[in-house]
Amino acid sequence: MIVVMKPGCAQADVDHVVDLIRQYGLKDHVIVGTDRTVVAAIGDKRGVDMSAIENAPMVDAMVPILKPYKVASKEVKQEPSVIDIGNGHTIGGKRFAVIAGPCSVESEKQLMQTANAVKAAGAIGLRGGAFKPRTSPYEFQGLGEEGLKLLAKAREETGLSVCTEVMSVTQTDLVAEYADILQIGTRNMHNFNLLAAAGKTGKPVMLKRGWSATLKEFLLAAEYIINEGNQNVILCERGIRTHEQYVRNTLPLAIIPAVKNESHLPIVIDPSQGTGHAYMVPSMCKASLAAGADGLLIEVHPDPEHAMTDGAQSVTTDSFATTMDELRKIAAAVDREM
Ligand code: PEP
Ligand code: MN
Repeated sequence: MIVVMKPGCAQADVDHVVDLIRQYGLKDHVIVGTDRTVVAAIGDKRGVDMSAIENAPMVDAMVPILKPYKVASKEVKQEPSVIDIGNGHTIGGKRFAVIAGPCSVESEKQLMQTANAVKAAGAIGLRGGAFKPRTSPYEFQGLGEEGLKLLAKAREETGLSVCTEVMSVTQTDLVAEYADILQIGTRNMHNFNLLAAAGKTGKPVMLKRGWSATLKEFLLAAEYIINEGNQNVILCERGIRTHEQYVRNTLPLAIIPAVKNESHLPIVIDPSQGTGHAYMVPSMCKASLAAGADGLLIEVHPDPEHAMTDGAQSVTTDSFATTMDELRKIAAAVDREM
């Protein structure tokens, strides 16, 4: 249920509604919009009669939420969410946000070289896995905490916000100590305990779509994070499994307008996992911006041929800079800022 407050209501009126919702044993989410504040009441409402709230001071209306996802839905918030990712950077709204970096953190030299190059080309964030979810247990698993320390160092040097993956509940606090954005990988989108743990940190969460998840399941996964009181969720489309062989994953860009229709959360596109081939990445970057995405998560490597993970889909620092120049032209044409 959404409790819609009258324009000009005071904080005390909102607090009173929040109190009532809590007394009914439900969870409250206060969403302050540009002209209205609403309070969403979430939880099992069987046996709960909330109707008396309509008489509380400055309550305008009670509206049921019809969608299966509640707080991620546009029903509770019409205007797009803008997420603060630290270091003066945001994702969502008019700005097109580019987060770029290696698939894995491999060494100080590799990371600093990449960080400086993507920063110079106009990225606002640095990606890089310290803990890597590998299909084979015999492949490089990441540098662990040493990788996190290198990411923190790169942030200090460049001012980029750091996005890195957290793979388990027990790693959450450690990764949150170093990262600005916690990435939840495609393999973990259905790991509901991990979603809740990431939510509890209060840090922005980059939630990747499960490679076989529906849009509804994707938004319900976001809901697990928001229900911990953390509204800082960034959705990331990284491609889905199909029978196609010419790509590693099939990248469904139609999810951009679909998400915009359903949710106020920002959506970024990962064209690297989304295609598996570096030569396809620039085209998909440009298409994503033209289609209304809020940003990109791109794999960039100073020497892709010798990358320890995902070399085939990593673009060079030069190719990244060229793509950024092209993106700036498209951004101007579609009234976006970069
Ligand atoms: C990655 O970003 O390197 C990664 C492992 O992504 P995904 O979880 O989408 O496969
Ligand atoms: Mn990768």
